[in-house]
Amino acid sequence: MALLVQKFGGTSVGSVERINAVADRLLRYRGQGHDLVVVVSAMSGETNRLVALAAELNPDAPAREVDVLLSTGEQVTIALLSMALHRRGQDARSYTGAQVNILTDNVHGKARILSIDDQRVRKDLAAGRIVVVAGFQGVDDQGDITTLGRGGSDTTAVAMAAALKADECQIFTDVDGVYTTDPRIVPKARRLDRITSEEMLEMSSLGAKVLQIRAVEFAGKYKVPLRVLSSFEEGQGTLISYDEEKDMEQPLISGIAFERDEAKVTIMGVPDQPGVAHRILGPIADAHINVDMIVQNVGGDDTTDLTFTVHRDDCKRALQFLEAIARELKARAVKSDDHVVKLSVVGVGMRSHAGVANTMFKTLAEEGINIQMISTSEIKISVVIEEKYLELAVRSLHSAFGLEGQPEDL
Ligand code: ADP
Ligand code: ASP
Ligand code: MG
Repeated sequence: MALLVQKFGGTSVGSVERINAVADRLLRYRGQGHDLVVVVSAMSGETNRLVALAAELNPDAPAREVDVLLSTGEQVTIALLSMALHRRGQDARSYTGAQVNILTDNVHGKARILSIDDQRVRKDLAAGRIVVVAGFQGVDDQGDITTLGRGGSDTTAVAMAAALKADECQIFTDVDGVYTTDPRIVPKARRLDRITSEEMLEMSSLGAKVLQIRAVEFAGKYKVPLRVLSSFEEGQGTLISYDEEKDMEQPLISGIAFERDEAKVTIMGVPDQPGVAHRILGPIADAHINVDMIVQNVGGDDTTDLTFTVHRDDCKRALQFLEAIARELKARAVKSDDHVVKLSVVGVGMRSHAGVANTMFKTLAEEGINIQMISTSEIKISVVIEEKYLELAVRSLHSAFGLEGQPEDL
């Protein structure tokens, strides 16, 4: 008998049939004697629908009001799931984030969880109830509703598991675990039985949306046992591991991640002098535009070019700033390209093996794919390439790094 926090994502609660299926599954776990805290997302498509509604009425809607709106999606699901459980004779209670005091900072749209009051939840569990908590939302110290960023229900689940010291946090989704890459792009992708927390952190931050990055961060900080499983079929799923000895046996590359929504901007012919990068990137940072990769050329004629990537949604805004700075700095030109993607190979095995970058570049060259930017860290190599080559590049690299075979074949 264990205390489990189980999270069901949008597709898993996307219809009355799916909610009924989740309720049946919960009853099976309950029948095995487990205490259950269930975190749910909005029904699939609902958060996007709400985002679009807000944009139609006011593209610059105050973030506070957007959060009031977006949090309603999850409120619908908690009530429906709780009703489905009652129908089955199972006592259950639904709670919004505020009702279980998921206290966050006040950064609307990407709030961070500061604390959770577990008293009420523990009382319900002691009374034999299933507790159903709305994912993705919290409340700040003013009592205002906040949301945790897209995909944030994963983080709610991990935070609940940490607060309750649950035996496991189980993320049920529409795939049966974490794969070597997105199985929708590479049908031959292979499910991993385990992945190190460090690698999962990189995979999430580099675009694999199967787990929200903050959930992985939070789990690592509090060593929450975390597993990704299918809500449609039975299976062991993927365990996020903190076990360093086992990590040593990991293959060279564990996975390939990609980010589609990238854009690249370049300011050409700026003075090659101290302080110029700061003058260019300072206003971009002040406007809360996240800059990802940055490349600066070695200047030849006392000038240099600076290229960086931003989220595609921020490209227009970044360009407006750059054009103003270009005039001040008498730069030669400003260019942008929003048909680029970022592709990354990730693996702790890279630390102790040379040649990963070489294999990656050779594979892309053989496919005639031009690499526009490169960045590396200890356990990942990322490249920016033209959007139209994304699928070809992911498939070729997946096979070049032997990710298709069973682990024992490698
Ligand atoms: P949920 O609504 O349950 O939170 P998400 O859509 O957020 O589900 O995440 C699951 C999706 O993540 C999968 O359907 C899959 O397409 C995508 N995905 C991307 N990279 C991976 C990966 N490496 N392993 C598994 N799934 C991945
Ligand atoms: N419903 C939110 C979203 O679509 C949160 C989540 O699903 O995790 O991003
Ligand atoms: Mg998700």
